Amino acid sequence: MQFHKTTADLFVPNGTAPEAALALTTHLCISAHQDDIEIMAYHGIAECFGRKDRWFTGVVVTNGAGSPRNGIYGDYTDEEMQKVRLIEQRKAAFVGDYAAQVQLGFSSAEVKNPANTEVVEDLAQILRATRPEVVYLHNPADKHDTHVAVMLRCLAALRAVRDETRPKKVYGCEVWRDLDWLPDDSKQALPVSARSNIAAALVGVFDSQVSGGKRYDLATAGRRLAHATYYASHGTDQESALSFAMDLTPLVDDPSLKLADYVLGLVDQFRADVARRLG
Ligand SMILES: [Zn+2]
Repeated sequence: MQFHKTTADLFVPNGTAPEAALALTTHLCISAHQDDIEIMAYHGIAECFGRKDRWFTGVVVTNGAGSPRNGIYGDYTDEEMQKVRLIEQRKAAFVGDYAAQVQLGFSSAEVKNPANTEVVEDLAQILRATRPEVVYLHNPADKHDTHVAVMLRCLAALRAVRDETRPKKVYGCEVWRDLDWLPDDSKQALPVSARSNIAAALVGVFDSQVSGGKRYDLATAGRRLAHATYYASHGTDQESALSFAMDLTPLVDDPSLKLADYVLGLVDQFRADVARRLG
């Protein structure tokens, strides 16, 4: 498989031939950065972990340049830091028993440039090779512009290949901004209680990010616990951890549906819910 960047990396933890490993994929996550997948799509990783009939593949679109660095990484050059992040992502793929891990190596500026077609072409190629049933993307209401840009390229790629392959479900997931605000009947509540040991290890292997002082490992587990606890005020919790997602499937099923209209429609539902209770 040929990607646009010569620095693109395709890693298969169990050594299966790359094309065969990609073809096994049932659950696919496409994220902006190294460690986003493990924060936003643990649901898919856990669904596939240790199974022979379901396989998870991760795709990271950017190259990790410009990452914050501290401690033992403090004097690393940008090139050295990109290498560290690439290896950390490979470690996560190994721990999480992924079918494959692709790192496309684009800069954030390239991803955010609407005139750049290479990102969408690489993503379309991956979608054709994996034909996933379930896809995890950044959610369109995320507050990190690179996350939103990656989601836009993913939606363009999904729409471009929809006559050849179309997932049953497309989720927009939480990283920089959670989705508690979504009205419950529009909220996808994904159970993520299984194997908290693996869930913790997956975020924990990104030492260059966590040891810089940002406790993504604790914060991610804390958000999942908070969601499980505060999801419903009555009854006892069936799950000790939940992730919330926005259903993006309608946007792929109906390419004429405008993304902004769809997302702002959900914001309007939230607004109406607050207004109704105050009334
Ligand atoms: Zn990110």
